[in-house]
Amino acid sequence: MPSRKFADGEVVMGRWPGSVLYYEVQVASYDDVAHLYTVKYKDGTELALKESDIRTLSSFKHRKSQSSSSSPSRRSSSRSRSRSRSPGRPAKGRRRSSSQSREHKEDKKKTVQETNLVPLKPSENNTRSYNGEPESTERNDTSFIALEQKFKPDLDIERVLEHYSLRPRKEEKKREEIYSEKKIFETMKTEKAPPKTKELEFGGRIGTFMLIFFLPATVFYLLLMCKQDDPSIMNFPPPLPALESLWETRVFGVFLLWFALQALFYLLPIGKVVEGLPLSSGKKLHYRINGFYAFILTAAAIGALLYFQFELHYLYDHFMQFAVSAAAFSMGLSIFLYIRSLKAPEEELAPSGNSGYLVYDFFIGHELNPRIGSFDLKYFCELRPGLIGWVVINLAMLLAEMKIHNLSMPSLSMILVNSFQLLYVVDALWNEEAVLTTMDITHDGFGFMLAFGDLVWVPFVYSLQAFYLVGHPTTISWPVAAAITILNCIGYYIFRSANSQKNNFRRNPADPKLAYLKFIPTATGKGLLVTGWWGFVRHPNYLGDIIMALAWSLPCGFNHILPYFYVIYFICLLVHREARDEHHCKQKYGLAWEKYCQRVPYRIFPYIY
Ligand code: NDP
Repeated sequence: MPSRKFADGEVVMGRWPGSVLYYEVQVASYDDVAHLYTVKYKDGTELALKESDIRTLSSFKHRKSQSSSSSPSRRSSSRSRSRSRSPGRPAKGRRRSSSQSREHKEDKKKTVQETNLVPLKPSENNTRSYNGEPESTERNDTSFIALEQKFKPDLDIERVLEHYSLRPRKEEKKREEIYSEKKIFETMKTEKAPPKTKELEFGGRIGTFMLIFFLPATVFYLLLMCKQDDPSIMNFPPPLPALESLWETRVFGVFLLWFALQALFYLLPIGKVVEGLPLSSGKKLHYRINGFYAFILTAAAIGALLYFQFELHYLYDHFMQFAVSAAAFSMGLSIFLYIRSLKAPEEELAPSGNSGYLVYDFFIGHELNPRIGSFDLKYFCELRPGLIGWVVINLAMLLAEMKIHNLSMPSLSMILVNSFQLLYVVDALWNEEAVLTTMDITHDGFGFMLAFGDLVWVPFVYSLQAFYLVGHPTTISWPVAAAITILNCIGYYIFRSANSQKNNFRRNPADPKLAYLKFIPTATGKGLLVTGWWGFVRHPNYLGDIIMALAWSLPCGFNHILPYFYVIYFICLLVHREARDEHHCKQKYGLAWEKYCQRVPYRIFPYIY
């Protein structure tokens, strides 16, 4: 019996992952072990597909001929014109007057709201004409299409919608039903296991094994150094504390209490419930957005503790023990996550943490969205215990500074550090929904990397400046403070507007408020912005984040490099993250991504990198 059905070089129809859409592809190779075909789409995208996701060309012939005859408009000359034109840009002489626009504003609004970019229908097999090889940049203005739908006969609407893949969602659903009823395509179940992870990141098995020790050792080292009178790198190694002084059961109890309190806030039925991005199985998970409420409730709880004279600098006094407790907890959690992932269905595994190597999968995270009932462990840890904990730690440092140095007011440096970082955390919680589209949620599994990162690295390393200031008072003048504040505001402005621009565009590309933005269409139906912040550099949000990181370190003065650890590490992190994202985007978007890179040559830093 032959082990493979399709030969190298054969032109077949390949299903686009997570959808029921088929495109013409060429078989490039076959992996005997994983039983996966590497296929090449016309836009250059290469993907690994299972045999069941591939069909012969002949099985689509019937539909092809039917489709070309069913829509007379497709034979008209307007077809070739519209291919290269924007979905939203009106044809010459067909611009509507503003009064007409006003008349139909309500209708238009409705249609625009329900309109979204979806991949083109396979009958068009139009990767050549549209996907990945844009002949021109599209303007993000669908208002014309929306109006046109109102006035043109059905067939014309059909042409416009099919061609630009702009279709009211309800209609899209109806059409999908028709397609499946007619059984024109074999619309099989889209459940699909992610392929085995072939490209290992973070130095592969050895690199991840070392990181499991290196990351906790770094936190330990930084905290020890911060406690030194002279935290210079020359004073290496710092004197080690007695082993038994690192652990206190009571501290661990407080940590557990904190974690449980945040879990309780997460479970409260307040805040809206939203859908995440579709998984490889096509399923969408639901997430409750109540991080900001959790923050308010935490603030109220801390306020109550302070009111009842609870000494918050207990946190400062036992800082290292808290870090050790959090590290022990995150290690325990990672082991639990890995063990439970062994029983997880294959389609629920993380695309990046499914290598088959224990250490690697343990580090990256084997299961994508581990849940206990509706409690999503990764999503919960991503923004709650660690991020809110960071703010509480900062506050504890501020109070410790006042107490230790007998101050009636915290120092200006401490106020700046606290305020800047508070703004960052509040912003993240306020925009919690945006986390659902990040790499952490959609790509990486939940393993040691995120468990340790969320629960130890973020709260204990990101608060280093405040911790440093307690032991190393730094005086800055008002003009310097003002300059640093302006720098932070610039960073925040870039960070927030870049993230909002992309998130809003992803949520609703037809949003009239984004009509001024231009984008390159891609094979997946999603556009790549080439104007606005995303036309300035490829990751403008990282640029803003790095500027803010610098502003957080500057209030600590220039006596030591230690408080600059965060900005140095953060540049390395984001440069590496950017490279990972580039790699994923290139795989996802193929030629369209390359065009984007040509158009926007700088990755993070304009004119530098
Ligand atoms: P990003 O928000 O940068 O998203 C990257 C994704 O955006 C890509 O995968 C692609 O996804 C989409 N994209 C890329 N280019 C374009 C474009 N031109 N037009 C439209 N979409 C585009 O991902 P991150 O998760 O890395 O970062 C989120 C935020 O979190 C950032 O602000 C970052 O600074 C911050 N961050 C903070 C950290 C911290 O420790 N403080 C750590 C990591 C991140 P697709 O096309 O699939 O939508």
